[in-house]
Amino acid sequence: MKRIVIKVGSAVLTQDNEIAKERMLNLVNLIAKLRKKYEVILVSSGAVAAGYSALRIDKSKQISKKAIAAAGQPILMSSYKKKFDIFAIDTAQILLTEDDFDSRKRTKIFQEIINTHLENRILPIVNENDISSTPEQLFGDNDQLSANVAHAVDADFLIVLSDIDGYYDKNPSEHKDAKLYKVLTELPEGALEDKATPNNPFATGGIVTKLKAADFLMKRGKKMLLTNGFNLSAAESFLLEKKHTLGTLFA
Ligand code: ADP
Repeated sequence: MKRIVIKVGSAVLTQDNEIAKERMLNLVNLIAKLRKKYEVILVSSGAVAAGYSALRIDKSKQISKKAIAAAGQPILMSSYKKKFDIFAIDTAQILLTEDDFDSRKRTKIFQEIINTHLENRILPIVNENDISSTPEQLFGDNDQLSANVAHAVDADFLIVLSDIDGYYDKNPSEHKDAKLYKVLTELPEGALEDKATPNNPFATGGIVTKLKAADFLMKRGKKMLLTNGFNLSAAESFLLEKKHTLGTLFA
């Protein structure tokens, strides 16, 4: 069975400071279908947004953000659990930091945990463990975390679900004539120097971290599809019918 990592960002999972439950259900529904053909690992943001509904404190402060994330992680996971229960899919929570990728010895630990889950048909749900870690130990966004996970578990694909159809030659929220790239085998020159542009109060990445993730994977002979997480039909037809309708394929 092929192995894929799906990363869903705050832009998709969050609406008005809360978890966007319907969109989460659509994602869960898609993952249930994908599991007939693939081994799936989910990398999910959303803990800060979920925690913010319980703990409304200033999230711009480091410690407050960690406190919100700590409150939010179980809310996020129980929200997933309720939905995966509908499809009789068991889930596991895996919290990682940059340090876990530091040495082969450390990487091996979570590789084996994930392999054990997949062998036993459990869906691993990965998130960054930003609670006790220092800023140096954090990726700071799940885009690069998901690329590192995809590489470490030797996944065939990383699918990044965001609030846009893919990667454009300019920021589409500022330029109406922006054109969508369909397939890229390398990044356009200077792309990584663009400023971060997260489009949502809980988003940390923006397009640049997605490009860094794509670059990391392309350099290691792996593929990434950046596509829409509001409407999952492009991801579905790509993965289940091998049709590339929308989304940017970095290959
Ligand atoms: P997520 O929460 O899914 O990680 P982000 O808000 O961090 O999403 O990043 C996606 C946003 O990046 C888009 O909504 C868009 O506004 C912005 N963006 C800036 N430049 C580009 C570009 N060239 N192509 C696509 N999106 C871009």
